[in-house]
Amino acid sequence: MTGTRKTQAVRLSTWRGLPELTEAEVRDPAGDEVLVEVEAVGVCHSDLHVLDALPGALPYRLPFTLGHEIAGRVAAIGAHVQDVTIGERVVVYGPWGCGQCRRCLAGQDNYCDHRAGLGWSGAGLGRDGGMAGHVLVPHSQYLVPTGLDATQAAPLTDAGLTPYHAIAGLGDLGEDSAVAVVGVGGLGHLAVQLLRALTPSRVVAVDTREDALDLARACGAHEGVLAGQATALREGTRFDAVLDFVGTDTTLALGAATLRAGGTLAVLGSGGGHLTIGKPGPLPQGARLTLPFWGTRPDLHAVVALAEAGKLSVTTDVRPLSDAVQAFDDLRSGRVLGRVVLVPQ
Ligand SMILES: [Zn+2]
Ligand SMILES: [Zn+2]
Repeated sequence: MTGTRKTQAVRLSTWRGLPELTEAEVRDPAGDEVLVEVEAVGVCHSDLHVLDALPGALPYRLPFTLGHEIAGRVAAIGAHVQDVTIGERVVVYGPWGCGQCRRCLAGQDNYCDHRAGLGWSGAGLGRDGGMAGHVLVPHSQYLVPTGLDATQAAPLTDAGLTPYHAIAGLGDLGEDSAVAVVGVGGLGHLAVQLLRALTPSRVVAVDTREDALDLARACGAHEGVLAGQATALREGTRFDAVLDFVGTDTTLALGAATLRAGGTLAVLGSGGGHLTIGKPGPLPQGARLTLPFWGTRPDLHAVVALAEAGKLSVTTDVRPLSDAVQAFDDLRSGRVLGRVVLVPQ
């Protein structure tokens, strides 16, 4: 028989309602499950998309605990768990899938074949996530051990993983290649570092904020361009890839207009913009358009290894878990540089 424990948690209980810090119950782990004591949890723009969603827009059942970038310590394990031990420090792979389909068996739970019928996208996205004292992880395969500081480790699971997955999908970029990073927030500033670590490309960052461009340069960007002046890019550089972390009409149009023939426009931001594809149309010949979602389990192992090798450094704004609602507000208003990471008391 399994018991439950009470935990403080940031819960969403009504669509378009404010999330609340409240008491929630977390069940003890059974079978393949692992209970993780949360040490740090990142605040992501996709949390805002959940908070802003109209009833029926997302397939998630309420209420649930938010938070999908999680680092912590193994607190308890189910009877079948053999690959992690109590007390071990881990990060949590968030895009939990059905666990049964070919994609899930291959570690590509982010592209689970049964996603549409699951009613969730993963931890903190329809399932109870990590903005809490504890989180119940459905399988130990979703944990990656790491000795990194938890506030550095937590953002790797999305802000690091998602751009890594997108960059891995670009294939080989040649010596004279150039890549644009549009939107230098939590994901974008790590995208710049990943591009510098993994590719020979010239990296150009685009953002509406000067301080974000300063951060991009500090992360290794060769050039920072204010979004208002980005039309100048249309005449000059033609990019082998554009990583759009914003996804509005404006940024999609910019990406299409600045892409080199045969280049890749990767849309990561869920800004709600539209790009009408035609042939001929806004994209150059040979262009590829990709819509990466999160990343695979092998990708997360690679990202953690890069961070442990000193190749990734997350710019964090660390706050107590009780500041969650304020943090959402600050993120929405563009007052966050890098990643807000919440720490349960
Ligand atoms: Zn996210
Ligand atoms: Zn699946």
